[in-house]
Amino acid sequence: MSAHMLYYNVTKGVNPLADKRDYYEVLGVPKTASEDEIKKAYRALAKKYHPDLNPNDATAESKFKEVGEAYEVLSDSSKKERYDQFGHAGVDPSYGGGGYAGGGGGFGGFGGFGGDVSDIFESLFGGSFGGGRSANPNAPRRGQDITKNINISFMDACKGCKADVKIERMEGCDDCGGSGAANGSTPQTCPECNGTGQVKVTQRTPFGAISSAKTCTRCSGKGKIISSPCMKCHGAGRVRITKSITIDVPAGINDSQTMQVRGQGDAGVNSGPAGDLNVTVSVRPDPIFERQGYDIYCDIPITYMQATLGDEITVPTIDGNVKYEIAEATQNGTTFRLRGKGVKKLNRSDRGDQYVKVYVEVPSNLTKKQKDALKDFEASLNEKNYQKRQTFFNKIKDAFQEK
Ligand SMILES: [Zn+2]
Ligand SMILES: [Zn+2]
Repeated sequence: MSAHMLYYNVTKGVNPLADKRDYYEVLGVPKTASEDEIKKAYRALAKKYHPDLNPNDATAESKFKEVGEAYEVLSDSSKKERYDQFGHAGVDPSYGGGGYAGGGGGFGGFGGFGGDVSDIFESLFGGSFGGGRSANPNAPRRGQDITKNINISFMDACKGCKADVKIERMEGCDDCGGSGAANGSTPQTCPECNGTGQVKVTQRTPFGAISSAKTCTRCSGKGKIISSPCMKCHGAGRVRITKSITIDVPAGINDSQTMQVRGQGDAGVNSGPAGDLNVTVSVRPDPIFERQGYDIYCDIPITYMQATLGDEITVPTIDGNVKYEIAEATQNGTTFRLRGKGVKKLNRSDRGDQYVKVYVEVPSNLTKKQKDALKDFEASLNEKNYQKRQTFFNKIKDAFQEK
């Protein structure tokens, strides 16, 4: 018995969807498995259960299909992500409202599945693979999430704001209450598939007779037949609408962060919950402030005299200007901190700090008179006035003497 099977035995039965096994369990890999490990496991199992090698073996055949289905999802990063988050509902072919765009086409089948894996199946099973054995067309399904981007100012990100987001989403149809049937009528259970949306088909293939589930053509897999569809939603039960939603952007949000607004995505199907609205924020840079985490940085130019004698300078903060006393002999590049003047932390009451760096602007465009005055002033200074310079030249002298 292989390690894969051992894993399967241990984890068997943990899947909450009773008749649909966990895809990781199917491939016998842990949830943390890498792309390569998933591929390797799939290859080994597909080979093991391949119909060519197991003629007339119904168990191997269904295992082969199951393994392929698991690999289809786990080898596709976006499907894998949805599966990890929502389980089978996240990747179920009937999940979501994409199929409505076609009008009455319903639940779209396995349109999303592609690549060579499905080509293998298509050639073997005539494309019938993927009916989704346990997918009940009448089961509640969560609506899809909607993704939006907004652009806000630096200050709005620091202080929080309200932002209007224009979205397009599927909402339950008011006219028919979501049933899809015109006023006064009700949808009937499809007699062809008894409401399951699928019919069993037996096909002759080079590997023998293969039974598989196919989407019911009479009801397009919906399990229901609507003889007089609602005029507004054409039987879909949901309609696409455009609306503007005002969202509260919390103080402290940063560039590239995403806010999840629960329940503002597409309406669910069959009374399933609505999806979410995910809003990603772009923050416009500020001409004065720069942000790192919750701290704010800014540079302030000071004059030669202010640096030498000290002064009270005006410092901009996100709360407005404040006064700050710089000391006598403040050196170029000195940074001081204003505690609690940074950005408010998300979901907390405290704030980051502001770091202010002063740099001395060397005066330019001096007149002859000013230059002379400066020369006179410089001539009046001695070593004591330039301690750093003194230390530096002493070091150079020492270095030469050592040689
Ligand atoms: Zn049917
Ligand atoms: Zn309707």
